[in-house]
Amino acid sequence: MNPLLSVIIPAYNEETVIADTIQVMNSVLEKLNVRREILLIDDGSTDGTWNRIQKIAAQSGGEVKGIRFSRNFGKESAIFAGLAQCQGDAAVIMDCDRQHPPEKVAEMVQIWNGGKIAVVEGVKRSRGKESFVYRFLAKVFYGLLKMVSGMDLRGSSDFMLIDRTVIDALLTMSERRPFFRALSQWTGFDRVQLEFDVAGGADRPSKWSKRQLIRYALNNVTSFTNIPMHIVTVMGVIFFVFSVVLFIQTLYMKFFQNADNGFTTVILLLLITGSIIMFSMGILGSYIAKIYDEVKGRPRYVIRELTAEQTEEK
Ligand code: UDP
Ligand code: MG
Repeated sequence: MNPLLSVIIPAYNEETVIADTIQVMNSVLEKLNVRREILLIDDGSTDGTWNRIQKIAAQSGGEVKGIRFSRNFGKESAIFAGLAQCQGDAAVIMDCDRQHPPEKVAEMVQIWNGGKIAVVEGVKRSRGKESFVYRFLAKVFYGLLKMVSGMDLRGSSDFMLIDRTVIDALLTMSERRPFFRALSQWTGFDRVQLEFDVAGGADRPSKWSKRQLIRYALNNVTSFTNIPMHIVTVMGVIFFVFSVVLFIQTLYMKFFQNADNGFTTVILLLLITGSIIMFSMGILGSYIAKIYDEVKGRPRYVIRELTAEQTEEK
């Protein structure tokens, strides 16, 4: 029997493009020697996305399944919901706006070849239309991540095919804030990279707000390294040495010279130590916040409803 391929598509306010995307996807999948299953995860959309999904699911004869979150939980949560619900021998994860070209899925399936290669990851050859600032910040983020974790994720995307073995490995991870593309690399299975150009696709502004992106970047860097905590310790030592030297110098000035300009030193020291302490507390705080988040053990998402076919199954 042909292998079953699950296509996982997170959708947040995508009513304008979702139907077209599924159509294109279907026409690509029809040419492949696979059975298919398409999972559409509505990440708490506020527009008509869920209606569209229900319609598409109803017309698909069970091939398309919809999952609706009770609110916006973020793309990573949507991906994980898809992974948890999918039955495929492999899963393809892709964006709803066709910036991840559906045509590439055929190549991915070929490389996967029934499980010979566990991960086929789409790597951005060009980044499409992005502002200079965004491009720069992406570079800083990936540079930082590589420095601290040794993982090179430049050009990486969430567009990838993963084998059932990897899906199962990912599902054992209980992180509240998973960083999908890094975790799939972290599992350590064989990977093949497949270059793609970010297509113009359905032109619409990004669904990520600036705040979301910054939080995403900070979270993911701290998820993969404890180095910032160690930097604080090292800095503490350096500044301690520095202040001992200053201390001796100040004493020397006091006893052997007429020192009345010592106030400068005091003020400087106060400022420096004060700022270092605050800085370290900030870093500690960010880790504690993460621990707090993980310890709470909340689910990554809450499902409000499923499309009809699935509800009947259950
Ligand atoms: N997305 C999501 N939840 C969010 C934001 C985005 O599920 O909170 C989905 C969105 O529907 C799309 C994918 O994630 O399928 C990528 O979003 P977008 O194209 O806006 O991001 P960008 O192209 O800027 O990476
Ligand atoms: Mg996009």
